[in-house]
Amino acid sequence: MTKLLFIVAVTIALVLWFKHMGRTKRDLDAKRRPEVEDMVRCKACGVNLPRSEALLSQGRIYCCEEHRRRDLG
Ligand SMILES: [Zn+2]
Repeated sequence: MTKLLFIVAVTIALVLWFKHMGRTKRDLDAKRRPEVEDMVRCKACGVNLPRSEALLSQGRIYCCEEHRRRDLG
């Protein structure tokens, strides 16, 4: 009987552990996503910025409208 209880306890512990691992991995993925975003470099001033904030023009990357105009114009 003690053996059976031990097996049940270990099984429950393993299930909880796997659930915890799964959740931890998802949490880490969610936290890591913003940092994983590609960093790009402004062609005019060389500043690094996230791709989502960059201006793309004729295949070139700029940090702001002013630098885009200055470089192209
Ligand atoms: Zn710039």
